[in-house]
Amino acid sequence: MRELSAVETVGVVGAGTMGNGIAQVAATAGYDVVMRDIEPEYVENGFDSIESSLSRLDEKDALEEDPETIRGRIAGTTDLSDLADADVVVEAALEDMEVKQDIFGDLEEATDDDVVLATNTSTLSITTIASATDREDLVVGLHFMNPVPIMEGVEIVTGEKTADGTADFAHAFAEDLGKETWESDDKPGFVTNRVLMPWINEGIRAFDEGVATKEDMDKGMKLGTNVPMGPLELADHIGLDICLDASETLHEELGDRYKPAYLLKRKVDAGDLGKKTGKGFYEYE
Ligand code: NAD
Repeated sequence: MRELSAVETVGVVGAGTMGNGIAQVAATAGYDVVMRDIEPEYVENGFDSIESSLSRLDEKDALEEDPETIRGRIAGTTDLSDLADADVVVEAALEDMEVKQDIFGDLEEATDDDVVLATNTSTLSITTIASATDREDLVVGLHFMNPVPIMEGVEIVTGEKTADGTADFAHAFAEDLGKETWESDDKPGFVTNRVLMPWINEGIRAFDEGVATKEDMDKGMKLGTNVPMGPLELADHIGLDICLDASETLHEELGDRYKPAYLLKRKVDAGDLGKKTGKGFYEYE
């Protein structure tokens, strides 16, 4: 396995909400980054988010270098073969097993065979993703939280065949990005989403069943339980499609207590995915 001390270039697959955040924190920590998405437009959107996040952090004096220097360490591409020089890869593409297995099969071809391949999946099995490769011992979950530059925690998830050394590498890498870690076994939803998704779905159901207005649902949970966002606000922030995918995986694996709320499905079908489309439970400019 390639040691952390030998890591210079970080490959990131997906330039969406999570991928661009991961690219940003890796570049902020001093790594060269290659960020890959499937369309040039998605790569550009990723850079737009990185630039605005870096300038907000700079205004708060939260960066040790100027934003241009950090931004300059990130290269964008649509060509997976540009990840050939990566010393570690973090995948943050769609929450879909087929998509992730295809990507991991391609990454195995594209990268050196001692390179750790990490996935940012919220709920999918690390073991099943790893089975698309011949280096299952080097596949691990590196579950960053949203927004990546702000949230301090990263959940490390070990699959059936993840080597102890790979888990150690993942903890040390995340810590090097300025994060704190905890570890979860490869069970549906891991620690965080196993507990969070039923909470979000219950909030959506309670709103749909007329318990309170959406504003009062969120206000009640914030002021009543000391969380920074209520369930509807948080669902918009995460992305309703991501919440639905996660809930469906949990439902499939763990049964009816994880059934997604009907209104969550209806909104995703209508294309109202939360902040990223400008409308979810709330409207955004
Ligand atoms: P997103 O929809 O914002 O971005 C996904 C990106 O992946 C898109 O830009 C898409 O074009 C790209 N993509 C699709 N197929 C690809 C491929 N083959 N190669 C490269 N790029 C590809 O989604 P997101 O919110 O960034 O989520 C990404 C992953 O992170 C998912 O697995 C999700 O479950 C997980 N995650 C999300 C959150 C969250 O709060 N949004 C939190 C933790 C983990």
